[in-house]
Amino acid sequence: MSNSVNRIVIVGGGTAGWLSAGIIAAEHYSAENSVSEGFQLCLVESPDIPTIGVGEGTWPSMRTTLQKMGISETEFFRECSVSFKQGTQFHGWTIGGEDSYAHPFTLPHKYSENNLAAHWQSVRDQVKFADAVCPQSRLFNNKLAPKNIATPEYACNVNYGYHLDAGKFADFLRKHCVEKLGVVHISANMTAVNSADNGDIASITTDSHGAIEGDLFIDCSGSRSLLLGEYYGIPLVSKSHCLFNNCALAAQVPYQDPEDPIQSCTLSTAQSAGWIWDIGLPSRRGIGHTYSSDHNTEDGARTELLNYIATTAGEQAAADASIRKITFDPGHRAKFWHRNCVAIGMSSGFIEPLEASALVLVELSATMIAEQLPANRQIMDLVAKRFNNKFLYRWDRIIDFLKLHYVLTQRRDSEYWIDNCAASSIPDSLQELLDIWRYQAPWHRDTNHIDEMFPSASFQYVLYGMDFCTQTNPTRRRSDRETAKVAMALFRENAKRTEQLMTSLPTNRELINKIYKYGFQKI
Ligand SMILES: Cc1cc2nc3c(=O)[nH]c(=O)nc-3n(C[C@H](O)[C@H](O)[C@H](O)COP(=O)(O)OP(=O)(O)OC[C@H]3O[C@@H](n4cnc5c(N)ncnc54)[C@H](O)[C@@H]3O)c2cc1C
Repeated sequence: MSNSVNRIVIVGGGTAGWLSAGIIAAEHYSAENSVSEGFQLCLVESPDIPTIGVGEGTWPSMRTTLQKMGISETEFFRECSVSFKQGTQFHGWTIGGEDSYAHPFTLPHKYSENNLAAHWQSVRDQVKFADAVCPQSRLFNNKLAPKNIATPEYACNVNYGYHLDAGKFADFLRKHCVEKLGVVHISANMTAVNSADNGDIASITTDSHGAIEGDLFIDCSGSRSLLLGEYYGIPLVSKSHCLFNNCALAAQVPYQDPEDPIQSCTLSTAQSAGWIWDIGLPSRRGIGHTYSSDHNTEDGARTELLNYIATTAGEQAAADASIRKITFDPGHRAKFWHRNCVAIGMSSGFIEPLEASALVLVELSATMIAEQLPANRQIMDLVAKRFNNKFLYRWDRIIDFLKLHYVLTQRRDSEYWIDNCAASSIPDSLQELLDIWRYQAPWHRDTNHIDEMFPSASFQYVLYGMDFCTQTNPTRRRSDRETAKVAMALFRENAKRTEQLMTSLPTNRELINKIYKYGFQKI
């Protein structure tokens, strides 16, 4: 095996495989280094095993990812049935009735300078937290877009990610990676893994392309985790004691009228033992129910899903719905990079899609590999150690953040919601934060890490959206007294900006139609 790390082999061609290929190739591939240094990135994809075919919500980070890969945003919209996502609106999570709150992607107004959460406590009965501090919740609740057709590609008026068709997205990425980024695509089934003397993977055997050698193997083989899990035996660390959902029922539902408005946020509606996602694409909606099999039967979950479809899309849509069941073990691998093998995507773990955190982990993992690609085999173990530390930390933060949505509920109408509030199911790290937040609001200086996945603003949106009370005393602290007037002025500025955007932005559907017709300006 060569000592330098030049030959990268990705096993699996789902969204994880192709995103990883694109991110790494965009950073490393050039016609010159492929000739002079033998740099080669090849992706082996089974022609027989389908991709998981879900995963339709992204974070705003996807804009940077696609831009760095040299993808035209206009083309992406036209090819992947894309719509704008500006955050999530949660229904029924707090008391199980008409309650509703927003988690927008945009930070509170002038967030780097002022923590408005402390000052909002005094007006909390008059205005919802998200509405008070940022324009976005009102924009997406009116199905508006986050920008205009004159706004250049990837730029925005308010922050946004995407809703997309997962199948079309993998095909689109494949074409771009192969045609523009020099990725070699091999359509074959991996049938065996071949070891080097030192215990690394030397090559994989395929059914139709013989053996494929490599210096670094990226396992994107989906939840079977063929290299890291099956071959190396790195176990899955279960998180089912904390996050109970382990099944999903997914359906694709047509609009009643093809020109119906398109939501510009994900809708998440709490059920008796889980929640229903509702994602609006230009051509259809993706609707699904993720639930805990310990707390509901498949029939019970199906009935709730069909009721939701009947209520929001009509009886006929419910009668016609074709529902696919997916099961998963909530958890992540004990480590992600072992010897010369690193897992990305479902092969590294999966936890319910409540905040769509899977694709962003793919982006972050592939970006770290691209940025820190070991120069040679000697330092690979050190890079692997860094990678494992960083991603174990990230998984823990994701788990804390997802669990926050459950522990704040006041619902006691089913065992599911009661069990979710049991102290034994709450990570110590989250409980400590909750104890502190009773007396001080989350703030971006709370963390030692510069690249937290969830900014403190996200914790604020969920906490105050779900009626959590922070007992601040704005007259006691000098800094709070001094910023009180500023805070009131910022609330007014936000209200004014919201009105301006409400009148100047098109609807999600209008803007998408214009993108199809005219396209965005290129940057
Ligand atoms: C219900 C649900 C909803 C979700 N919603 C979201 C969401 O809104 N946002 C989000 O970010 N994520 C979401 N996810 C997660 C998201 O779907 C995945 O992270 C994403 O699709 C990546 O999957 P993957 O590429 O790792 O695996 P897969 O799509 O399963 O791809 C595996 C690949 O490996 C290949 N393969 C397997 N065996 C072999 C072999 N022997 N030889 C060669 N190739 C092989 C297959 O052919 C396939 O190409 C959701 C997941 C679920 C279950």
